[in-house]
Amino acid sequence: MIKYHLKCECGVQFESWFSSSEEYDNLEKKKLLSCQCGKSKNISKQIMSPQISLKKQLNSSSSKKEIFLKTMSKKLRDLRNYIEKNSEYVGDNFTSEARSIHYDKKNVRSIYGKATPEQTQELLEEGIKVDTVPWINKVDS
Ligand SMILES: [Zn+2]
Repeated sequence: MIKYHLKCECGVQFESWFSSSEEYDNLEKKKLLSCQCGKSKNISKQIMSPQISLKKQLNSSSSKKEIFLKTMSKKLRDLRNYIEKNSEYVGDNFTSEARSIHYDKKNVRSIYGKATPEQTQELLEEGIKVDTVPWINKVDS
């Protein structure tokens, strides 16, 4: 099957399917192509619009995005590995641990764990240095 953009001399443009380009030539020769206006049989084939180049552009921008995402997720994985190697996981106790390190100056170390945005905000307001990092799964999904 082949799709042609056709244009009638009345100005109407439409699309039509043909089983082959020969079928189109045949119908055209016999003036069997018809337009909705019903007046004219003078219908011509339009040059196909540049859909292929548009598609290519879309592909290349999506692959750029893919490369960017891959690079980002690698960096985030590296960051996660770094944090895991260099700090202690305290889980849900993050807020209280961060406070005890800050106020008691005991057992000073780097920690990481869970905190809500509100808890993080509180810690920051108390002058406790907290960074929020995007936590990425180690396994590519
Ligand atoms: Zn027409």
